[in-house]
Amino acid sequence: AAKAPVTLVGLGPMGQAMVRVLLAAGHPVTVWNRTPSRADDLVAEGAVLAATPADAVGASELVILSLTDYGAMHDILDPAAGALRGRTIVNLSSDTPDVSRAASAWADEHGATFLTGGAMVPPPMIGTPAAYVYYSGPTATFRTWEAVLAVIGAPRYLGEDPGLAQLLYQAQLDVFLTALSGLAHATALTAAAGVPAAEFLPDAMRTLTEIPAMATPAELARSFDTGVHPGDLATATMMGATAAHILAASESAGIDLELPRAVASHYERAIAAGHGRDSWTSILEVIRAR
Ligand code: NDP
Repeated sequence: AAKAPVTLVGLGPMGQAMVRVLLAAGHPVTVWNRTPSRADDLVAEGAVLAATPADAVGASELVILSLTDYGAMHDILDPAAGALRGRTIVNLSSDTPDVSRAASAWADEHGATFLTGGAMVPPPMIGTPAAYVYYSGPTATFRTWEAVLAVIGAPRYLGEDPGLAQLLYQAQLDVFLTALSGLAHATALTAAAGVPAAEFLPDAMRTLTEIPAMATPAELARSFDTGVHPGDLATATMMGATAAHILAASESAGIDLELPRAVASHYERAIAAGHGRDSWTSILEVIRAR
């Protein structure tokens, strides 16, 4: 059977990767990008470059957006809002859950249906078995397009609330970005003592993989969900002492202190709240309420 036409607006690294896997799966793909030259290679590979955003939206019932943020969506689609009626907009751009909910209402006002999405892999992994993408919005709309969206990555549908996919996306990047800052900070700490990054980083990378080795998701979830934090292998007191040592070492190295201050503060406050003999997981109790 003929594959459904798809429009893709936004040809950064992610948008380009999505166009390529959709073309490879046999979908006719129409593209539009603010900087038209970014479409050159894709046109050579079979995509059609629309002259205007309205033409791009008009070319396919399914319109996928891959932009820096939702402000970019409004810059592009507000002037083309008259073309949106009957379309499904799948926005795979980063923003806040509240902004995604407002965008869903905006699409409804123009007779379109809106799905929020968040792709959880970098561009080279789009379309591979490792790729997965969070979605939320109207269930019937998701079901209609699920098979096409699966070309990009395994869809994980979270429910009707259009903010939910964005929230899960942000939560994953919360983990990711904090870990990246940790890597950079630790590298600065060792570099201040003359240790080359190339020497330090292999063990640092291995430390990241020790988190899943320390506890399964189910074990962590039990403590986080119940607020009961048993375990004496890594108590808040022991981890808090280490956090204070990292802060002091950073101070004497003359490097940035914001990250170790935040970490030390979690443990100080958990211990002050009586969690000293509990597991490190008790820091959630000071984090969950501001
Ligand atoms: P960018 O975030 O750099 O997105 C660039 C796209 O947005 C380009 O098409 C750019 O147009 C367009 N754009 C930005 N502002 C405007 C504007 N005001 N008006 C019109 N167009 C605008 O690239 P990525 O492809 O890396 O990311 C796309 C989305 O995917 C982001 O939301 C990102 O968070 C998410 N994501 C990215 C991952 C990655 O590893 N790269 C991984 C997972 C998700 P132009 O070409 O003209 O500049």
